[in-house]
Amino acid sequence: MPDVAENLAEIRARILAACIRSGRVEDSVQLIAVSKTFPAESVRDAVAAGHLHFGESRIQEAEGKIAALPGNLHWHFIGRLQRNKVRKALANFEVIHAVDSSALALHMDSVAKEMGLFPKVFLQVNIAGEESKGGFEPGQLCAELEPLLQLERVEMIGFMCIPPAAANPEAARPWFVALRELRDRLAAEIGANLPALSMGMSGDFEIAIEEGATHVRVGSAIFGKRAYRVDGELG
Ligand SMILES: *Cc1c(COP(=O)(O)O)cnc(C)c1O
Repeated sequence: MPDVAENLAEIRARILAACIRSGRVEDSVQLIAVSKTFPAESVRDAVAAGHLHFGESRIQEAEGKIAALPGNLHWHFIGRLQRNKVRKALANFEVIHAVDSSALALHMDSVAKEMGLFPKVFLQVNIAGEESKGGFEPGQLCAELEPLLQLERVEMIGFMCIPPAAANPEAARPWFVALRELRDRLAAEIGANLPALSMGMSGDFEIAIEEGATHVRVGSAIFGKRAYRVDGELG
């Protein structure tokens, strides 16, 4: 059994060190503990250690867990979201990290209106242009972004990416830089406020922080190795 409290303390220390190295303040980075495939008990261990932000990538799995846990937790949906699950996602999650099309964002806006909600949203960017990954193509984003910033309910806070899998974490750095530069350029061109960057996982969150991540999604380094894969995409 991994010691969740101990792992969390270690990750927090590494986040702090990465912030100091890159001249950032620690509270500029939100750690999201990714609890997918782990039971509510594991989340409880993290809550007992003072952690409140959690990430899940499947609605069906998350619903039961969220219902079984205290209501003061902040839930982040980090998986691919199907249109027919938007209502359930908005009912359970405060932040949606991987909106991958304008059509999905528009649909989410109308559902949020019906539900009286104001969800925070990241647009997923297919930063390396991988065939196997969803998300906006970097070149396509400029044209699509502007109307999405005008949505009534959905609050577009920034971009999210999952760089290509690589054995060496340093391989992710250029993709983190690319996402930050894309954000900087589009925000300046459109005059938009896009403060958040969701990037970095167990293997590379320190590099992501050095390159400007505001939200890091860390699962296995906190909860241990997952026994099965989710979505056939990420381990
Ligand atoms: C599973 C998952 C994570 C966490 O991955 P770890 O390598 O266990 O830290 C982060 N982001 C997304 C989108 C995921 O699906």
